[in-house]
Amino acid sequence: MRLGIAKETGPDERRVALVPETVGRLGEGIDVTVEAGAGDAAGFGDDAYREAGATVGNPWSAEVVAKVAPPSADEVSKLRDGQVLIAFLQPLTDTAGVERLRAAGVHAFALESIPRITRAQPMDALSSQATVAGYKAALIAADRLPRFFPMLMTAAGTIPPAKVLVLGAGVAGLQAIATARRLGAVVSSFDVRPAVREQVESLGATFLDLGIHGEETEGGYARELTPEQQAAQQAELQTRIPGFDAVITTAAIPGRPAPTLITADAVRAMRPGSVIVDLAAESGGNAELTQPGRDVVENGVTIVGTTNLPSTMPTHASQLLSRNVASLLELLVRDGEVALDWDDEIISGACVTRSEVKA
Ligand code: NAD
Repeated sequence: MRLGIAKETGPDERRVALVPETVGRLGEGIDVTVEAGAGDAAGFGDDAYREAGATVGNPWSAEVVAKVAPPSADEVSKLRDGQVLIAFLQPLTDTAGVERLRAAGVHAFALESIPRITRAQPMDALSSQATVAGYKAALIAADRLPRFFPMLMTAAGTIPPAKVLVLGAGVAGLQAIATARRLGAVVSSFDVRPAVREQVESLGATFLDLGIHGEETEGGYARELTPEQQAAQQAELQTRIPGFDAVITTAAIPGRPAPTLITADAVRAMRPGSVIVDLAAESGGNAELTQPGRDVVENGVTIVGTTNLPSTMPTHASQLLSRNVASLLELLVRDGEVALDWDDEIISGACVTRSEVKA
């Protein structure tokens, strides 16, 4: 079986779906073709892929094609009926993109749709990339804040530690908490899922009780709050937020616009010099004033609208993603042949378009 690793063509996408280390460890019977320069931006040159046993060439004719971002229309036109594609495909929001893949007859597997069950943990690309994003968000907050994160006792006086609030304590939020704590900040966090309190506290942060208790779905995600609960959350946050120097927001509901947690009035209530790092910028933002890909300054408060943070740490983001993709491949390939067992809940759950042609 031939596996193709495509070079990313989207702006600002520096990751690659498989790194040489993983290529070298794929089982017998998988021949890898990597597109020239596919790993360059992540620090993996063509020679490293050759040393791992890959050929540099056209990845699009392979039986299985792996990439990071959803393929463009031009890229989909290079695919044929019955081929397998593995990538982030935004199945809940990019209906046109999914329709293109359906029309092309591709067996498309969306990394976002892998069920979050214990057996699928090694394939959980959402978690691996959220870990990178959460870490980087804490570093951005520390970088933009005109204050120290840690407490310092110096001959020139004592500096109190920064107070950081992390809203949404899923995978990215927990990593942001851990990173901000390592840098010495005093961290508080809130999430609508009550089960998270213990995880927040185990990282040495304080759970900020806003009096809102949401529900958790079977997959471990939050249910969207009612409009009344949302309004109550915004009002309560507005009274608490002036006490924080930096706020990192990660709240999300899969397939829905990000919930607005921080209103424009709440931003105006913060002290000048405070910083908000909004990890939900791409899906509408957790702060009302967020602009994706831009910094907005309101009343001296900087709101950083982050987009695709994992791509800003492409070496480790790709290394983790690569292990996720390789684990999924183990499930899709048997004895060097694509063998799709539709009774497997991971295979049927992750598949967003299916060909009539037997893979
Ligand atoms: P996500 O990116 O969809 O959301 C981030 C966080 O935002 C979630 O914790 C969510 O509860 C929170 N949130 C949503 N609306 C909010 C609001 N109005 N106010 C405050 N917070 C809000 O979630 P994620 O990080 O990808 O995953 C969430 C959870 O899924 C994990 O923490 C875990 O429990 C579960 N999970 C399970 C597995 C597994 O293998 N069993 C793997 C990964 C994740």
